[in-house]
Amino acid sequence: MKLRCTPYALALRHPFTITRGTRTEVPVVFLELEHDGITARGEASPNARYGETTSSVIEYLGSLDLEHFPDPFALEEILRSLPGPATANPSARAALDIALHDWISKKTGVSLTEYFGLKHLPLPESSFTIGYDSPRTIRGKIEEAAGYPILKIKLGFEDDVEIIEVIRNCTSARLRVDANEGWKTRETAIARITRLAGLGVEFVEQPMPAAQLDDMRWLKSCSPLPLIADENVTTAQSIPALADAFHGINIKLMKSGGIREAARMVSVARASGLSVMIGCMIESSIGITAAGHIAPLCDYADLDGALLVTNDPYSGLINEGGRLQVPSRPGLGLRE
Ligand code: MG
Repeated sequence: MKLRCTPYALALRHPFTITRGTRTEVPVVFLELEHDGITARGEASPNARYGETTSSVIEYLGSLDLEHFPDPFALEEILRSLPGPATANPSARAALDIALHDWISKKTGVSLTEYFGLKHLPLPESSFTIGYDSPRTIRGKIEEAAGYPILKIKLGFEDDVEIIEVIRNCTSARLRVDANEGWKTRETAIARITRLAGLGVEFVEQPMPAAQLDDMRWLKSCSPLPLIADENVTTAQSIPALADAFHGINIKLMKSGGIREAARMVSVARASGLSVMIGCMIESSIGITAAGHIAPLCDYADLDGALLVTNDPYSGLINEGGRLQVPSRPGLGLRE
């Protein structure tokens, strides 16, 4: 098995702002896995919030020696052999996990959806993400997103309520909110959530910093809206502790370390009474399509990362106004 890493800069359609800053491009790493005449693809979209950079991804993947594994059908064994704790280098692990799944399903001639036995299940409709912006300029972004019936609005700033009021006045779309750990006290959090509930918001993602789990337990006990964990969730191990602090979790391949762990996370979340969203970082169609293939396991989808990019070298998952369709070709089913 041969691995080859290629760094690539995804260019964003608009500068994208969340509580952690503004970005105009997102560096990612594409991974090619070659074995027995089949080339499979994976992707890492490293995020500083989870301790990664493109250099750390390339270094980690470059340090792996897969020569003593006979073929990618040893997937479980290969993933268990990866060095370091499961929560370290998550997007680098995801790149390898995605490429192994792509290879196996290509080799066996089935799509990844078929490989997981999900072929005839419906996919949840995806939200479309609107980055934080001033109330004055956000109206234009909402008009541009007119074809999407579910919008996810990035908040966590002083003028949060004003922004949702402006948006509510110019669209009847379903609204979800992601505060990205932006509300630092329980009083701020419950005040904002109560106002947002009055404006018809469906649920709120990660209202408070991940370290404030006690505050989150209190918030869950009195919140009028469901609360979805994102920054609090990494691998399956992180889920049981969240059952009394959130109503659901947001799984992303770039946090979980790939598809295999993401599928395990769905089971643990169900056993803990939590709903499940499948989300993404800013990614090309490699990562987004991989997530799309297991989306039928989930209640909600937020798989718009590739739509925010102008130079995606691949196509795969189709997202038409939030309606998702995965390729039926073998493997991930990507086209260049
Ligand atoms: Mg989030």
